[in-house]
Amino acid sequence: MSNDQTGKRKLSLAAWIFIGMFLGIVAGIIFNMLNMGGFTTSYLKPFGTIYINLLKFLVVPVVLLSITNGVVSLKDIKRVGTIGGKTIIYYLFTTAIAIVIGLLFANLFKGMNWFPKLETTDLVYEAKTANFMNTIVNIFPSNALAPLVNADMLPLIVSALFLGAGILAAGEHGQRIGQFVADAYEVTMKILMMIIWLSPIGVFFLLADVIAVNGAAIVGSLALVILVAFIAYIVHVVIVYGASVKFLTKMSPLAFFKGLAPAMICAFTTTSSNATLPLNIECCNKMGSDPEVSSFVLPLGATINMDGTAIYMGVTSVFIASCYGVTLTLGQMATIVLTATLASIGTAGVSGAGMIMLAMVLESVNLPVAGIALIAGVDKIFDMGRTTLNITGDATCAMWISRIEKIKRGAPIPWEKK
Ligand code: ASP
Repeated sequence: MSNDQTGKRKLSLAAWIFIGMFLGIVAGIIFNMLNMGGFTTSYLKPFGTIYINLLKFLVVPVVLLSITNGVVSLKDIKRVGTIGGKTIIYYLFTTAIAIVIGLLFANLFKGMNWFPKLETTDLVYEAKTANFMNTIVNIFPSNALAPLVNADMLPLIVSALFLGAGILAAGEHGQRIGQFVADAYEVTMKILMMIIWLSPIGVFFLLADVIAVNGAAIVGSLALVILVAFIAYIVHVVIVYGASVKFLTKMSPLAFFKGLAPAMICAFTTTSSNATLPLNIECCNKMGSDPEVSSFVLPLGATINMDGTAIYMGVTSVFIASCYGVTLTLGQMATIVLTATLASIGTAGVSGAGMIMLAMVLESVNLPVAGIALIAGVDKIFDMGRTTLNITGDATCAMWISRIEKIKRGAPIPWEKK
């Protein structure tokens, strides 16, 4: 993220967060040596808690507005039925696979006892009993305000889908509300950026306390969790995207990745799907995608399809659970698959947004949101990888749908030259 317009703020946010993390670690080690864990918990941690509160505070508006806005931007419910239906199924399916891959690798490493366990005393962990049928029933809210007030994500997403559909169905009457949603979404994004800018301070206070209480050993494990995430990212790209391009689009995966390389590099460096969108559209069109398909499938994907974010959520939830000495049950992992799939849909395509949505995933299985502090300092590194996957997944879908549309109208398929 470049914020140099004023010429004064030379360091990027990532650099500031890194500094916050570094200073937090140093302060934590000093307090730990002085045996002042009690002091940090009473007087430093509350500032970290303020930061966490702000993260949580934004989850409801972001999810509600981004999904409603996404539905409204499809413009015509019938069009959603044809191209949109396939696109959404593809997105959900690949995202669910992504999170399963993330959980698999994280559990593998956890099984080898490579993740640390914190000495926390303040976690009262109650396992939520996950009853599958109840989970399904509870997705549908019986009260319009309850999901907003309780930040209950699944019912919130259902409410957002209905709101979007209602706005479209109301035609002219819905237009003003649709515009209001679009405007409110913009405003929320601005607030999101403000809160993300507080990350260095939040990270400092939270880490200082965690390390003062637990000692410095926790730090080395961060490199490990990053490694696990990147292994899962690469597996997903090779297996899922490779297979999709080869078998659905019937294109050479090498040609595809070569064609998409500029967009992938852009995603890696900007850590924003939204910022990468124009380049992604251009790369796909150059590879032979139908322009009307890419201009519909890719923006939708930049908003709702986040395979990298889903992998990150799987890996980091297992890591955080492990740090707090919690072993997730299969039922809880199923809850994570469901919530992370939906959370990744609600994640805005901007830098760092996935970390905010992680709060929702952690809450769904009753893990402490404060665990985010452990990884926040290196979130940028996770984000580079996950954003690259996010936009690559969108492009694989655009190419596949283009092939279907071309076949439908009997047009030649450029990448299948005879
Ligand atoms: N930065 C990601 C994206 O734009 C979202 C995230 O933080 O996971 O795709």
